[in-house]
Amino acid sequence: MIPFNKPYITGKEIGYITDAVNTGKISGNGKYTRLAQTFFEQKYGIKKALLTTSCTDALEMCALLLEIQPGDEVIMPSYTFVSTANAFMLRGAKIVFTDSRIDHPGMDEDTVESLITQKTKAIVVVHYAGVACDMDRIMELADRYGITVVEDAAHSINSFYSSKKGTRTPLGSIGHLATFSFHETKNISSGEGGLLAINDERYAYRAEIIWEKGTNRASFFRGEVNKYGWVDLGSSFLPSEVTAAFLWAQLEQLDDIQSKRIQIWERYYRHLSGKVEKFGIRLPSIPDFAMNNGHMFYLIASDDNQRDYLLQSLKKAGILAVFHYLSLHKSDFFCHKHDGRELAAADLYTDNLVRLPLYYELTEDQQTEVIGHVLRALELVNA
Ligand SMILES: *Cc1c(COP(=O)(O)O)cnc(C)c1O
Repeated sequence: MIPFNKPYITGKEIGYITDAVNTGKISGNGKYTRLAQTFFEQKYGIKKALLTTSCTDALEMCALLLEIQPGDEVIMPSYTFVSTANAFMLRGAKIVFTDSRIDHPGMDEDTVESLITQKTKAIVVVHYAGVACDMDRIMELADRYGITVVEDAAHSINSFYSSKKGTRTPLGSIGHLATFSFHETKNISSGEGGLLAINDERYAYRAEIIWEKGTNRASFFRGEVNKYGWVDLGSSFLPSEVTAAFLWAQLEQLDDIQSKRIQIWERYYRHLSGKVEKFGIRLPSIPDFAMNNGHMFYLIASDDNQRDYLLQSLKKAGILAVFHYLSLHKSDFFCHKHDGRELAAADLYTDNLVRLPLYYELTEDQQTEVIGHVLRALELVNA
């Protein structure tokens, strides 16, 4: 059996967790939380990083920080995870979905401007598979219309955007706010976990308060105030030191994990390109302003029959390949709230995308088996 994903354990996790337990401080915002936050601030130039219990929580913090009110509009792609939308709907926002690009499942930047109204408060971009959206264009629009940009960077650790000016900027450091995920399905994991990146100083002070249940407890512990109390809305968004200690073991091995995943990705690409196209299948295409961070390898089948056939025949061979998002504008919960615009590319990825196994411990033999089965299945059906 080859699973779709296998969470990777570096071997240092238990040691760091034991250390956290032995210090006697296992609630949040201790040594390991600070190590992890500083890592993101220094490596990626994020102004202020706050660990959260999930990317979902970090997105909910964004909605609180932006003071989203009922009726405010938030633009985001339909082809994304439910949390991207839920976080803002919880505050009463009206979600305005964009289509995906033709060449890539990420947001179609061309359509964003036409969706902006007086009520638009935020644009949430999703760097699908860790592949950047065109951030120069999005930031220019946001500037011009006075809108805030949130990057849902759940897939995007250690990925970069190349600006036309020639600069290479880490994803998650460009938008006013950004969110990362350390769910076990992501490149770096703490089981459940996430991080809020604050790149616009205006949000830094309130972010820490919202994070600490609406209190100025963090200021108190730094000795900036002599008592702490209830000063704003908030919730319990910070993870325990046990989670942070686990995460620290993973972050220490980031470079190794990334290079292994990219190596697997590139091997899929090399062995499938030139062979699957004659069956109408497309391989991932990466716009020239983006790069691949080895988060996900996918194929785009020519239709849903071919996609389902591929999933089934791989399953029979003991290989778990999976489809991905179901476009949110057609979901049971949202279809009656959608404004009726057709989002054809999002629907195409919903119906036709297949993700192949990709995890640190996938061996070369196993990968050869996956590649062989994909090619054999395609040849059989056309024989
Ligand atoms: C995984 C994911 C999330 C949610 O992450 P959690 O850490 O599980 O809350 C949000 N957005 C996208 C695009 C994701 O892939």
